[in-house]
Amino acid sequence: MAPASPRLSAPPKSTPTFSPDKTSVIFVLGGPGAGKGTQCAKLVRDYGFTHLSAGDLLRAEQDREGSEFGDMIKEYIKDGKIVPMEVTVQLLENAIMDKDEGRGRFLIDGFPRKMDQAVRFEEAVCPSKFTLFFDCPEDVMSERLINRGKTSGRTDDNAESIKKRFKTFVETSMPVVEYFEKQGKVVKIKAVKSPDEIYEDVKEAMVQRGIEPSAK
Ligand code: UDP
Ligand code: MG
Repeated sequence: MAPASPRLSAPPKSTPTFSPDKTSVIFVLGGPGAGKGTQCAKLVRDYGFTHLSAGDLLRAEQDREGSEFGDMIKEYIKDGKIVPMEVTVQLLENAIMDKDEGRGRFLIDGFPRKMDQAVRFEEAVCPSKFTLFFDCPEDVMSERLINRGKTSGRTDDNAESIKKRFKTFVETSMPVVEYFEKQGKVVKIKAVKSPDEIYEDVKEAMVQRGIEPSAK
């Protein structure tokens, strides 16, 4: 019997698009409501990072007229599931390219949240320097999200979606943190105090990793 024809797939890529010499990538992870976006804004202000939030890029693509992925993204986000990685990795690669063809420092917020994304991004786009991981108990995150939901207009800041996002975080995203931890590439920050207090610890972590603030 003739063998089944192989599935079509993208050709394997042996070299990442961006070299870590000119493109500095730091991943920012943590559960939903851990404060990733809040801390990223402070880092942008003081260190001259370009902030790329995977969730924001997906929401923008969802709203882009003519996007073939809009409906799919909408469903995944509401369900707290991880959008197939091809879409997210491509959106990130495009955004990095759009910023000075990738020259500079990038904070990639809320990504990678699944092993396949982590591996693909580092192989095909750019190896990361390290991961900032914001560690926060679920009850604290939950309260923040419910509060944010009053004004955020996000379809996933409601009790039902929040529960699903927590489950995805524990089952799917924590293995990514553990994977980088084994490589000595995770800086863990307790994220329960006030934003300014947490930021003091973030700056300390930057010193430890040899990252200097940008000149004022
Ligand atoms: N998302 C995804 N892949 C990613 C990042 C985000 O599919 O790499 C989706 C996922 O459904 C997630 C949602 O976007 O729950 C919102 O992500 P965001 O980082 O904005 O929010 P957070 O849950 O961290 O508050
Ligand atoms: Mg966010």
